Amino acid sequence: MTLTANDPSRKSWLNVPENSDFPIQNIPFGVFITKDDVITIGTRIGNYAIDLGALQQLNYFEGIELTDDMFMQDTLNDFISDGKKTWRLVRNRIADIFDINNPKLRDNEKQKEIVIFDIKDVEMQLPVLIGDYTDFYSSREHATNVGKMFRDPDNALLPNWLHIPVGYHGRSSTIVPSGIPVHRPNGQTLPPGETQPVFGPSKRVDFELEMAFITTDANIMGEPIPVNETEDHIFGMVLFNDWSARDIQKWEYVPLGPFLAKNFASSMSPWIVTLDAMEPFRTAGPEQNDPKPLEYLQQTGEHAFDIKLQVGLAPENGEETIICNSNFKYMYWSMSQQLAHHTVNGCRVNSGDLMGSGTISGPTPDSFGSMLELTWGGQNPLKLNSGEERKFIEDGDTVIMRGYCQNDEVRIGFGEVSSKLLPPFSKK
Ligand code: CA
Repeated sequence: MTLTANDPSRKSWLNVPENSDFPIQNIPFGVFITKDDVITIGTRIGNYAIDLGALQQLNYFEGIELTDDMFMQDTLNDFISDGKKTWRLVRNRIADIFDINNPKLRDNEKQKEIVIFDIKDVEMQLPVLIGDYTDFYSSREHATNVGKMFRDPDNALLPNWLHIPVGYHGRSSTIVPSGIPVHRPNGQTLPPGETQPVFGPSKRVDFELEMAFITTDANIMGEPIPVNETEDHIFGMVLFNDWSARDIQKWEYVPLGPFLAKNFASSMSPWIVTLDAMEPFRTAGPEQNDPKPLEYLQQTGEHAFDIKLQVGLAPENGEETIICNSNFKYMYWSMSQQLAHHTVNGCRVNSGDLMGSGTISGPTPDSFGSMLELTWGGQNPLKLNSGEERKFIEDGDTVIMRGYCQNDEVRIGFGEVSSKLLPPFSKK
């Protein structure tokens, strides 16, 4: 099916500001609550949120097989379950409805009032009910940096790393949308030079610059997804801040890996940008010749995506400093390889599952995707524009991640995931 929604020459009758992440070629999917307390599935063009439930009731999706209440739900899971053909039909239709040359809704003031909201007047929700959350560890630069700091500088990459898209099962219950503040976790740590652990607030709260993809029902139990079919089961992507407590992590992670250092919070951007919208931004990933991956992980064609990523840090009431510029294309293992590996043993993947990329670090120190790496374990504090210094994230700091793809014709962006760190939770 042609992705008519991606036509770079198309213009919308809705105003799209210059450099907007959300031109008519994007058409992401999300869930929002309107001022009247109605929850609906929607999309976004420019700074307008569009109620797809209302559009469906007004019969704008006629001819596409959809259950009657498909968009009047509080999650996208059922829509995602309908599969790629339906996602494409719906995205193409939305592009058509908002095309500058289509008068049907454009010239119907009464209907526009029901369908279109100023983005400032809606509250974004988590777009999917996340059943399972898996986090990978797929940036070679990040794994190398962490290996140097936590283990052995001379053997930073463990022997399995270049053969396996390493990952672990996280928890979905503490994944929150952009804007929801996060509490500094309490936990057990081993202070430097001590032999006995102590309990208290983490002193090394960090962000992890990640992206995550959201799957559809991909397989039945026992059935692996071949690497060249995986992209049919990936609905789209979001920005993902996988908050981490480095001191808790260091003490707890041997031998079973991350646990309480990771599951106190992860924050995601609220609009899921479809893999279809990112089609023009495919690019080659890093070479995988030394060693070559095993056959079930070998793929042809381009499966990395050129997504520019940025992290800003804003102290309480202070101006933001950009502390990192990275790119999703640096990932050693592609999303396809991650999903093929995840299911090769027969593990079942469901609609709304979320797979984190792992921290995305680039080759240069300004592209490192965590404070742990940017300050090299706290040894080299970052200078903020305000004159303050940071080794890790302090109470009151807001971490903002942004991402977008851009070529000569179109910019497809993710908006942002922004969240503030609060002091440890205390019951009022
Ligand atoms: Ca992570």
